[in-house]
Amino acid sequence: MASATMTPKDVKLGPTKLLINGEWQDAASGKTFETINPATEEVIARVAEADAVDIDRAVAAARRAFEEGPWSKMTASERGRLMYKLADLIDENRKELAALETLDNGKPLGESLKADLPLTTACYRYFAGWADKIHGKTIPVNGPYFCYTRHEPVGVAGQIIPWNFPLLMQAWKLGPALAAGCTVVLKVAEQTPLTALKVGELAMQAGFPPGVINICPGFGPTAGQALARHMDVDKVAFTGSTEVGHLIMKYAAESNLKRCTLELGGKSPNIVFADTDIDAAVEGAYFGLFFNQGQCCVAGSRLFVEERIHEEFVQKIAEKARTRKVGDPFARETGQGPQVSSVQFDKVMGYIEAGKKQGAKLVVGGTRVGDRGYFIAPTVFDNVKDDMTIAKEEIFGPVMSIIKFKDVDEVVRRANNTIFGLAAAVWTKDITKAHAIANRVRAGTVWVNCYDVFDAAAPFGGFKQSGLGRELGEYGLSAYTEIKTVTVKI
Ligand code: ADP
Repeated sequence: MASATMTPKDVKLGPTKLLINGEWQDAASGKTFETINPATEEVIARVAEADAVDIDRAVAAARRAFEEGPWSKMTASERGRLMYKLADLIDENRKELAALETLDNGKPLGESLKADLPLTTACYRYFAGWADKIHGKTIPVNGPYFCYTRHEPVGVAGQIIPWNFPLLMQAWKLGPALAAGCTVVLKVAEQTPLTALKVGELAMQAGFPPGVINICPGFGPTAGQALARHMDVDKVAFTGSTEVGHLIMKYAAESNLKRCTLELGGKSPNIVFADTDIDAAVEGAYFGLFFNQGQCCVAGSRLFVEERIHEEFVQKIAEKARTRKVGDPFARETGQGPQVSSVQFDKVMGYIEAGKKQGAKLVVGGTRVGDRGYFIAPTVFDNVKDDMTIAKEEIFGPVMSIIKFKDVDEVVRRANNTIFGLAAAVWTKDITKAHAIANRVRAGTVWVNCYDVFDAAAPFGGFKQSGLGRELGEYGLSAYTEIKTVTVKI
């Protein structure tokens, strides 16, 4: 299936309805919306459009499954086994899922297969392993009492995900929730609903009881808001823009004070010192920005390069960007596909214009590629200043901003001069400098001499306006439990 000759017509479409209470249902309104192939601008399929009424039905199903269904009586290890089964089914269908992801999102097929799919199954398996290892403590309190804690599932989780890694974001959300024993209502992004629905089908096949996993495609202000405001949802987990993150927290506060975790935007500093292996740093910085069409919340979009190597660095990275193959995401040689939508395309082109207007030096790219599909040439700006729009706002596209610096104190101060704090990286052979940066940069993840290294076991999340709470790892799991203290007189 992953051959160079594959075309969108060869891709098998999965379900296109809402998954509520184990059944595929139309929206109550009967409404559907189009999902578009970003490489051709053609309609792939029409998908049922959930609204507040459907969210209500999905939450009711999730509540029933949580309180009364077989899920609530299942042992923790049985829950884990179902999750392993789901991971196995995803593996068995990986070529089909990868092709569907590429069709709906535009990412190169090789990356869907080699990155998105294995990371997704690894995440389900990691959390499946946790299912029967979630437990409390016994606590030596004063007096004739036996005191212990129970880590109970938080309840019905409302989860809202973005379009940049649809399968993986679904795994990051479902994995810890299911391991903890929660039930979920997942609102997938309107740009990329197809793979999540296919995973819903596989989950039914694996044997998850009705109502445990409900999946509702739909739009943010309607379905998304209804979920985040719902009085019977115990927790909302959101990944998306900082702007909408503010709204989610407001909805949680204005409704039932539901628990809230947010994974939001970033403007991550990637700091390259002169004493580094320059070629490795060029490779890392190139990958750290252009991977996934630049549509990564952790993109190293403020590339600080020490003055002494600046010229050589710019020349090397510009050459790589110039020769990056942009085009058909199904073609084997393609390194970069289209942006996900016309809205994103226009937004990124707007930032490129802002960069030019505000005096950054355009070294490579800056233009549309072709006249069909949302393709943008890999773009490199040099001589970017800290107060330019392209150095301050999240672009979410293939646009690199190179900024010169002279010394450690200066670069730490400038790296931290942002509302964001998602990730950072440092490239140096000097271990003292590396640790100094790792300690002083205000970000949830710091990579040293590498970039974009993710593992289901390693917590991920943001400082400042990049988010609230952590996903993945043990900390991610704890975001789906409530701690109960039990004290018994003895
Ligand atoms: P982007 O700009 O990258 O599309 P968004 O933050 O707008 O990022 O979207 C991320 C997710 O949040 C999507 O599933 C989207 O539908 C949802 N969303 C957008 N607006 C709202 C909202 N007002 N309430 C709840 N969810 C929303």
